[in-house]
Order: sequence, then C-alpha cells, then structure tokens
Amino acid sequence: SVPAAILSALSAAARGGVLFKGGGALETLSEVRIFAFDKTGTLTTGKATVTGILPLEGDEAALLALAAGVERHSEHPIAAAILMAAEERGIRPNPVWNTRASPSEGIEGMDETGPLWAGNPRLAARMGAPLDHPRLAPLQQGSQTVVYFGRGSQLLGAISLADQPRETSSRGLAALRKAGIERLVMMTGDRRPVALAIGQKLGLEDAAIHADLLPGDKVRLVDGLAQEGRVAFVGDGVNDAAALARADVGIAMGVAGSEVALQAAEVALLSDNMERLAAAHRLARRTAAVIR
Ligand code: ADP
Ligand code: MG
Repeated sequence: SVPAAILSALSAAARGGVLFKGGGALETLSEVRIFAFDKTGTLTTGKATVTGILPLEGDEAALLALAAGVERHSEHPIAAAILMAAEERGIRPNPVWNTRASPSEGIEGMDETGPLWAGNPRLAARMGAPLDHPRLAPLQQGSQTVVYFGRGSQLLGAISLADQPRETSSRGLAALRKAGIERLVMMTGDRRPVALAIGQKLGLEDAAIHADLLPGDKVRLVDGLAQEGRVAFVGDGVNDAAALARADVGIAMGVAGSEVALQAAEVALLSDNMERLAAAHRLARRTAAVIR
C-alpha cells in the first residue's frame, strides 16, 4: 500500500496544480539532479506574434491566406500565431487538405494548385528550396523564429514570429537552482539564435542551450544527461513525447500542451506557473525525507 505521507503529498501537489500519475513519480522526482526543458510553449508562453511577412510571390495577404490555410491543420503554437495574424487582417485561410505534420520541421498539404509546405530550413532543404534569397536576409539575421512557405522547390515567402519567456520561468529556474539543481538545460527544435536569445534572458549558460533538434535528438540528449544523474524533462509538444517518455520523470504542460505529451508524461502541470514546478520538487524531497 502507498504510505500516507505520499498520499498526502500527492493531494497537496494536486491542490497546487501539479498532478502525479502515481507515488512512484513523486519519489523519482525527489532524486532528480538535472532538469531539461523544451523552449516553445514550456519556458516561453507559446503565444507568439507575427512580426514580419515577406512574400516572394504575390502580396502579404496572399502569403498569409496560404499560410493560414495550411497552419489551420496544425496544433503547433506557431500555427495559432499565424491564424491570429490572418484573422486580425480579415484574411480567410485558403482551403488546404491532405495535411501531414512532421514534428520539429513543419507541415505539408495540398491546395488547388498542388502540394505545398510550411516549415523550417530542414524541411525547405528536403523540398530542395534554397533559402539564400537576398530579400530574406533581414528576417534570417534576427533572433526570431522564421517559417518558410513553398511549393516543392519553389520558395513562396517567409513569416517571422516572436515569443517571450513565461513571466514565471526565471523565478522557477532560480528556485530550482536554490534547491541545489545545478544542471538546467534547454532543448528546442527552433533555430540557435532564437534559443540563445531566450536562454540568455533566463540566465542559462550557452553550453546548456541545444537548438535545431529533432524529437530523436532530444531523446539522445536526455540519454546523455542520464549518465550524470536522474533527469526530469519538461515539455508540451508532440515533438517532446519521446523525450518525456525516456526521462526519469516526464513533466507535461497540462493546459495548452498536446494530448500526446500528456500521455507520455508521469506528471502534468495544470498551471503555467513554473514556480509550481519548483514547489512540487521541494515537496517531493520533503516527502522522501519523511519516508526514509
Ligand atoms: P520546440 O522544441 O522549441 O518546442 P518545435 O520542435 O516544436 O520547437 O519546432 C521547431 C521548429 O519547427 C519551429 O521553430 C518551426 O520552424 C518548425 N515547425 C514546427 N511545426 C511547424 C508548423 N506547424 N508550421 C511551421 N513550422 C513549424
Ligand atoms: Mg514546445
């Protein structure tokens, strides 16, 4: 049977918005030495805003209609930002069908003209679309997320987006450091300049910031960290599911996070407040100390 101390800790954690799937996860969390975090939608709000629209064919409205058409079929935070930008300008999304998402790369689909895609440089490279267009340079030099749009090897344009750290991310990380967690790591599928800008705002060391990752890369990094001690991974997306499952403790963002991430995790954060995560970690340690 589960010790009373664990049951009462689980219910205390639940009142603070942290749901453990069982007492085992609480005990493992008490032993965690390393916290790894996804960036988009985990350390950041995931509520990005569109900051630039750069069509290479047609006008801004046409690119946004196409972008919204394909992103309507995605649950990525980038998609919500693009749909919002279209709505604000009164632009109706183009009809797009047969969509297929590639986690950490983008999404492909069909419209009346044929196949089209939206995604990062890796997806563009796979489509054979060169990204060295001089008009794109200003977007690419910034520290913002850039999404490219194209048909096969033809690049149609790009949209840049900016996201901010959650208000509580800094304090949450500081509380973990205060609790003796020295290894705090960020892992993202986004570009390195964006990852560095957000990581530096949060006081992370450059060496602890990993960018341009595929879902499998996050798993490999978690495996590497596991050589040094117990690892918790905190994430929200489909692209985080494998890393959440592989970590000693997977912790999913429970409100805006994806269903797949929640299923792969042992812990759900029902509050976006990162200080609650640190509090749950302290509670886990206190409880383990009582039991031993
Ligand atoms: P993170 O690991 O920070 O949560 P992701 O792995 O989800 O980031 O995304 C990595 C990158 O893949 C994004 O920055 C974007 O360039 C691209 N991407 C992913 N999903 C989409 C999408 N629906 N539309 C366009 N680009 C996408
Ligand atoms: Mg994410």
